[in-house]
Amino acid sequence: MKKIKVGVLGATGVVGQMIIHLLENHPWFEISEIAASERTSGKTYAEVMDARWSIGNEIPETVRDLVVKDCNPKLDCDIILSALDSSVAFEIEEKFAKFGYPVSTNAMNHRMEEDVPLLIPEVNPNHLGMIKIQKERRGWTGFIVANPNCSTIQLCLALKPLYDSFGIEKVMVTTMQALSGAGYPGVPSLDAIDNVLPFIKGEEEKIETEPLKIFGSLSNKKIIPESIDISAQCNRVAVKYGHMESISVKLSNTTDKDGIIKAFNNFNPIKNLCLPSAPKNPIIYLHNDNRPQPKLDVDAENGMASIIGRLRKCNILDYKFTVLGHNLIRGAAGGTILNAELLKVNNYI
Ligand code: NAP
Repeated sequence: MKKIKVGVLGATGVVGQMIIHLLENHPWFEISEIAASERTSGKTYAEVMDARWSIGNEIPETVRDLVVKDCNPKLDCDIILSALDSSVAFEIEEKFAKFGYPVSTNAMNHRMEEDVPLLIPEVNPNHLGMIKIQKERRGWTGFIVANPNCSTIQLCLALKPLYDSFGIEKVMVTTMQALSGAGYPGVPSLDAIDNVLPFIKGEEEKIETEPLKIFGSLSNKKIIPESIDISAQCNRVAVKYGHMESISVKLSNTTDKDGIIKAFNNFNPIKNLCLPSAPKNPIIYLHNDNRPQPKLDVDAENGMASIIGRLRKCNILDYKFTVLGHNLIRGAAGGTILNAELLKVNNYI
């Protein structure tokens, strides 16, 4: 099969690096173009990144000699994966969509726009239906689909089987989020080491609103948001990769602990699509009381699963549990790639 050519915007940031790493040897996609700011454009990727590459394995040979370009919509590619800083993503991504490129983005800018799918393939693949409406309304030949926030993705993956089986009325979530979630260079080391920071700008608002759109129903060319009360508190902790969340839920229908674990374990709604980056099990339930932990579990299913543990009764709502997800993989780069794979099998690329 001829591979689909991918252009990566923001290729020099931590999410961009992860996209490049995850696409090495991808069966459907190959990177043909990389772009970033004028600070780095004009140099080869290796010249820019040899001193900055921060995610483990070496820079793939296939991209070392690619020249970093400006983010102008003249790139030789079939789809754009965007890992742009949100201060610039809005205009640049729109420019690409206007010029006919499909854009799968990590940035927050377009997430809550009415006609932009806020996509998690296992949760709301039917929201792809908004693409046609988006193109008609905006007169674009391309389009934009967005990843939810990194904490929202793992939260929604965990909630979806409960939502389907029992209904959800209320959610309380407290996050402990990794330093890599703040990009590079991110949080100053003297603020991070030996510390917990109890504020992440805009994060609580995203976690409280994005799931309502994601669980919303597509009707009459609109997404009607679901009504779930969500209260979030977010903290930055001195962990490199992996956001943890302590979650309590109030369900619409009663069940017991076994019923919930069964719903988690049976959850695999897009198995038949055989998307290359999809985890075999999108949810892994661990029975040991001291799991999940970022150090031990964050790479399960190549960083693409929501790992859950510590399910027990909650004295205020119904049940509580802990969820862990890889913020840079499932919460960002891997999520954008999985969205692109879903676009491909639905003939949007
Ligand atoms: P980052 O490390 O700060 O990287 C930002 C990227 O944007 C760099 O490639 C940078 O290029 C580029 N950029 C900045 N200003 C630009 C400009 N004027 N024109 C063109 N490119 C420009 O950030 P990140 O953590 O990778 O995050 C990337 C995006 O993903 C953000 O929107 C973020 O909110 C979102 N996100 C991040 C995570 C996470 O866990 N980190 C999770 C979910 C979503 P230069 O190197 O040339 O400056």
